Amino acid sequence: MRDAVQRLTSFPAYLYDLAALDEHAAAVRRAMDGIELYYAVKANPDAELLRVLARHVDGFEVSSGGEFAHVTGLFLEARVAFGGPGKTDEELALAARAHRVHVESPGELRRLVRLGLPAEVLLRLNLEVRVEGAALRMDGPFGMDAEAVAECLPLFGERVRLRGVHAHLASGLAAPQLLQLAAEVLRHHAGEVNVGGGMAVSYADPQARFDWESYGKGLAELRRPGQVVRIEPGRALTAYCGYYATRVIDVKRVHGRSYAIVQGGTHHLRTPVTKGHDQPFTVLPARVGREEPVTVVGQLCTPKDVFARDVPASLRPGDIVVFEMAGAYAWNISHHDFLMHPKPAVHYLPG
Ligand SMILES: *Cc1c(COP(=O)(O)O)cnc(C)c1O
Repeated sequence: MRDAVQRLTSFPAYLYDLAALDEHAAAVRRAMDGIELYYAVKANPDAELLRVLARHVDGFEVSSGGEFAHVTGLFLEARVAFGGPGKTDEELALAARAHRVHVESPGELRRLVRLGLPAEVLLRLNLEVRVEGAALRMDGPFGMDAEAVAECLPLFGERVRLRGVHAHLASGLAAPQLLQLAAEVLRHHAGEVNVGGGMAVSYADPQARFDWESYGKGLAELRRPGQVVRIEPGRALTAYCGYYATRVIDVKRVHGRSYAIVQGGTHHLRTPVTKGHDQPFTVLPARVGREEPVTVVGQLCTPKDVFARDVPASLRPGDIVVFEMAGAYAWNISHHDFLMHPKPAVHYLPG
């Protein structure tokens, strides 16, 4: 990665390490022995990333007609699970071409049946479950409670068929907590059970990794005969393969606080703003020098344009700052056009 960044001639730039992604996805695939692995495309729909992931996953989870068209345009034969709240009739009509449709409400199921097209359905559950003593209330509009599920059951027929349930219940959980949730769902439902994504990614500790081995083993143990168990991670698959590299324009002190202003900003990498964390970064060239707390900001005219707050670093104008863990919910969730700065180039390390 370092060499590739040093060869860059313009900043800011995104860099995706496809070889690292290939290796990581292969390891996840191995750990998920006997478990179906889908990738949640909303984490990062970049076509080059999807091509690498397609070697390892059983399918893709999409959450809009746009993502559906994107994925089926790239891979004619791919298995696609079509989810997302608020599907329009136009989107539901695509369901006939999806491997599975994740239905979010009785009203949505009625509209799907009315279209008269064939569809294979998983009902999305909204469960109130407890993890490690703490109530994890999955409030909000997603999925259905038991009453709504009961309302759906008589609506199935020859064309629109019930295959099982879908339960993306939480995000940012470690393997033991996710296994507790999965156990709850797998105990009560037969057929296909999609236990969702949400595997933890720690931006505070970039070396920490979700324990795929124990999650895979745990799911295999929980699976009952006849059950098909599926997961659909997003962030934990692609976060680590992306970098946002840029240059320090200015370093200054204001009221005793040090700031480094870099080219670009959080309109290219919104992750630290949405998650409220310090985005981990490396400085090139590496310098043996006194580090002091510095706040790294971008070029936007808003106090929200902050990548990292008061983190120890030694930064000078011209230095290259490489933000790590920029492969998921990064470029594709950012508000690119705000302030009309140039867009970053995108580079790929082949894999
Ligand atoms: C966003 C989402 C995922 C992926 O979540 P991650 O936290 O990125 O793993 C999976 N399933 C559904 C239904 C989602 O909305």
